[in-house]
Order: sequence, then C-alpha cells, then structure tokens
Amino acid sequence: MSQDSTVVCVVCGGPAGEPVYASDRECSITSLCEVVPSPTVVRFCQACGHVQTTEMPGIEAYYDTQYKILIESEEEDQLYAMSNGQKVYRLDHQARTLLRKLTPSAAARILDYGSAKGGTLKRLLAERGDLRVHLFDVSAMYLPFWKAFLDEGRWATYRPPAAWRGTFDIITSFFSLEHVARPREMMAEIASLLKPGGTFYGIVPNTFTNIADFVVIDHVNHFSAASLAFLLRASGFGNIDIDEHAHTSAFVVTATAAVQQGTVAGIPRSEIARLGSEVERIAAYWRNFSSCVREFEDGRTGRPAAIYGSGFYGTFIASCLSRPLDIRCFVDQNPFRQGRRLLDRPIIAPEALPEEIGTVYVGLNPVLARAEIAKVACWSGRRLDHFLP
Ligand SMILES: [Zn+2]
Repeated sequence: MSQDSTVVCVVCGGPAGEPVYASDRECSITSLCEVVPSPTVVRFCQACGHVQTTEMPGIEAYYDTQYKILIESEEEDQLYAMSNGQKVYRLDHQARTLLRKLTPSAAARILDYGSAKGGTLKRLLAERGDLRVHLFDVSAMYLPFWKAFLDEGRWATYRPPAAWRGTFDIITSFFSLEHVARPREMMAEIASLLKPGGTFYGIVPNTFTNIADFVVIDHVNHFSAASLAFLLRASGFGNIDIDEHAHTSAFVVTATAAVQQGTVAGIPRSEIARLGSEVERIAAYWRNFSSCVREFEDGRTGRPAAIYGSGFYGTFIASCLSRPLDIRCFVDQNPFRQGRRLLDRPIIAPEALPEEIGTVYVGLNPVLARAEIAKVACWSGRRLDHFLP
C-alpha cells in the first residue's frame, strides 16, 4: 500500500490522506470491463469529503485511442432499468431527465463536454430541433457519429476553439467528470465557455449508492455531494442543486456560471465524519469481496456456472474466481450485449441459459441484485444456486 502522504486532493488541493483501500491484487477493472495490470488505490479527503483513485498510468492516451464506449454501432446503448417489463435505455433517460429539469430557451446554444458519441444530445435534438447542439471530446474517434447528425463547425476535439468562449447557454457533462484527473481545470474551462449566467448540467456516479464505482480504476473521482458542491463553488458556480434521485446511482447537478467568486466554505466536521464512515464501510465491502466469492465457489457443486450481468460486477466476480474455467457464459438482458464475448465467454439472453448450468453468480449492484434476479421469469422453474453480492 502506498504511504505517499504528498498526494493532493484534486478537488480542494489539500492533502489527499492515506489510502483507505488498496486492491490485494496487481490487477484492476476499468469502467469498460477491461482487466488492467495496475492496483486500485483509493483515498478519502478529510477536508472536502472527496474520494479519489490514483490515476491509471497513461490515462490521456487511454481516452484518446482506447476508451471506446459503445462505439460498435449508432444505436448501441446501455440498459438503464427494466420498467413494467419494458427496457429503458440510459441515453433516452438522460435526455428526458434533462428536459424535465431544465427548460432550454428557443435556439439555445448547448455544448456536451466529453460527449463520446453525443447520443444524449442527439436524442435531445429529436425532441427540440431548435437547439444549437455542439460536441467536444478529447478524442477524434467519435467523429463519424458526430458527422451523421451535426453540421461542420458544431464540434471540436482535444481543445475547444477560442471562438467558443462565453457563448454557450448550457453545457452538459454526462458521466465524464469522474474520469478526469484535473476536475478543477475542466470546470474552469466549462465556466469560461458559458455565457454569464449560463447553466452547467452534469451527471456523475454516486459511489455511495452504487459501490462498484469505488473500485473502477479509471474513475479518478468518486464525488460526495459535499465534494461536488465544493468543486463547483471553487470553480465560480452558484445556485448549485444536487439531485440524488433523478438518475439511479448518480448525482444530477445543475449550477449557474459566473457568480461572484468568494472564499469557499469548508464542509462541516459532522458531514466529513459521516462520509468517512460510509467510505470505510464500502472499502471493507471490497476488501471482503474476493474472499466471499471464493468461499462460495469452494462450497458449491461441480455443475457449470454462469455469471448474470456482463458489466462491471460480473467482470469483477470473474476476476476473483479460483476456477474461472467453470464459467460457461455471461447472461445479460441487454440485446446489444447478447452475442458478444466477455473474457472469452459468450454473452447470452436469460432464455438461452444451457440446461447444464447449476450456479449463477449475480453480477449486479448488491442493492438491486436480489430483486432483479427474481424478475427473471424464464428461470422460475429451474433449480439454480445463486451467489448474491
Ligand atoms: Zn479535498
């Protein structure tokens, strides 16, 4: 475990503190479910309540050329929820939530900062064709997607052009702030691109309600509501609203730019203490996780097994097993995942689960796992042992 006490908190600039968690193996899982040969080291800042992971080596090149989120096709999307038997996709939900929380003026200039394919604003345009949508990312690999629905001049890569300064009514950021090693720089740039009084609208994971976020190695930032508010105030934003309910396991934040910048008030000690004990609970969960998986594995019958969920939890479980070859397949409800492979195993629909499978490791958020697995109607008559996280 690193004892480097000179590590600085990327939100408040104070000492980041000693690690509260360090993975017991020299391998970690990225948000795109890749296994990388670096340990995960997490710290908790006692001054602003921020939780931060040591930056993965080579992070800039990673986002430029390797971080290919949902780049297989135009329509590809992540499953957000099952609602009354209907699949709800993440980008649709994000576009709907934005329109519920903001009322963009007619022909408003809007920029998605760190847009990847720009899918959320594309859906927004379908509802509000008057909006002047712009996209920005630190990679050129999404250009083919951007060109398919925007005119030349409506996007930029690597650096936003100087002519964009002070011109946007709204700047959005959907799940990008957690990846950046210098969030103060990113928010300062966003502030400079907004018109005075313009709106920042962002979504970041809530590690306290989706604890997998805690061990995702490329998520440098695990914001608490306190550290998110601190970051925004320190970057000159006001009218800060942080909504913990509009998007499952995430904070949805709205804030106004170019408010007079004063001193940023500290976080009350009682709030730091509360966050600190929450962080310790999550760290303990992950310290225990691998041994729980292996204990279950040792006690089960010899029948082949499957992992339900081909996302982060599923990959993490697979990486903990002593006998990974017992896993025949991953199961996923998302049709965009079915037919692909993960860790050299097929990803299949629940209906296609082979008869020989006797054990299912449930690789879902532990808060939802029991309820979600009970909803798999096609398995109701089958005798399956479940590992629940
Ligand atoms: Zn801090």
